Amino acid sequence: MKHLIKILIISTFFGCYSMYGIALQEEKSNFIPTQAHVDYKLKTTEGTAPHSIIFIIADGTGIGQYTVSYYTNGEFAPARFDHIGLVATHPNDGECSTSCKRVTDSAASGTALSAGQKTYNGAIAVDVDKNPVKTMLEWAQEKGMATGLVATSTVTHATPASFGAHVDYRKKEAEIAEQFAVADIDVILGGGKKFWPDSLISVYENRGGQFINDINATIDSERRLLGLFSDSGLEKVHNGREVSTTQMAKLALENLENNPNGFFVMIEESQVDWGGHSNSAEYIKGEMKSLNDLVNFTLDYQSTHPEVLVVLTADHECGGVAVHDGNNGDLDVRFTSDYHSANFVPIWSTGPGAAVFDAFMDNTEIGKRLIEYIQE
Ligand SMILES: [Zn+2]
Repeated sequence: MKHLIKILIISTFFGCYSMYGIALQEEKSNFIPTQAHVDYKLKTTEGTAPHSIIFIIADGTGIGQYTVSYYTNGEFAPARFDHIGLVATHPNDGECSTSCKRVTDSAASGTALSAGQKTYNGAIAVDVDKNPVKTMLEWAQEKGMATGLVATSTVTHATPASFGAHVDYRKKEAEIAEQFAVADIDVILGGGKKFWPDSLISVYENRGGQFINDINATIDSERRLLGLFSDSGLEKVHNGREVSTTQMAKLALENLENNPNGFFVMIEESQVDWGGHSNSAEYIKGEMKSLNDLVNFTLDYQSTHPEVLVVLTADHECGGVAVHDGNNGDLDVRFTSDYHSANFVPIWSTGPGAAVFDAFMDNTEIGKRLIEYIQE
């Protein structure tokens, strides 16, 4: 009996020891076998189709990044959304019996979101056989809607590219720019002038487009608009970004909203992801502040334009961000990697058709559903 009590005390002690997270000395592997997963569908496809769609993609933004913003940026704008769900983001990259991946890049996930199609990492709106897949922006063009793309990266970066171009590999940004120049997208705003040589700008202008490099330039509202405000991606927010995402969103909406058939615009808060890659809490905080402002702006807009659906989600998480207590009430933000993680990301929505996203879903469901709304 005494012996039993002794064993109980020892096992309880060690139980607590590991329960409170003090590292045990033994070497431990956390590689675990996986099982085939289910690509969960939306629970319902019933929903009133919106007249217009504002689709915000916060690149690399998971629960950790939102938590950083919640505790550091004051009023938490996403709390204003009416509906929230969760999204699985894995690509279709390799046979799961041998080498399949659960961690996506922005190209595969961008294609899932733009076209409702699983594909391989690096693919820009092409399927696993490298055949082009039709995106929601292209469906919107076919329906006579006005279309726009806004990003704080280069406009030819993976996420916006997945909506307006088709290439087998994301790094072909010069080729993506060549496709954009003749794609008849009504508004393209962001960074990346280096991929648009003057000869390509001429091609764009000869097709009736106007090019600006100053957000305050006078605009001819009768012509398509290309605004490139930096050579590469825009400056980081915490280093003093001059052209805000909200300014670009406002300019885009002014140039899209008068189409009687409605509009589709994808607005990317691109650099939350880069804050994760560089393991910088300060970088993430700044980009999340920009996203917060954008959400406030678009939901204010939606309240006076109730026919507009606003959806905010991410292509994937980045950095494996977790928030802990630091000293003196500060946050201690920690990272598990400098690349993307397979963690689920939230989806937030308000407006006609928003309620269907009150669910757990595969990322392709978002693309499929928004395409159905555009087709209705
Ligand atoms: Zn990334």
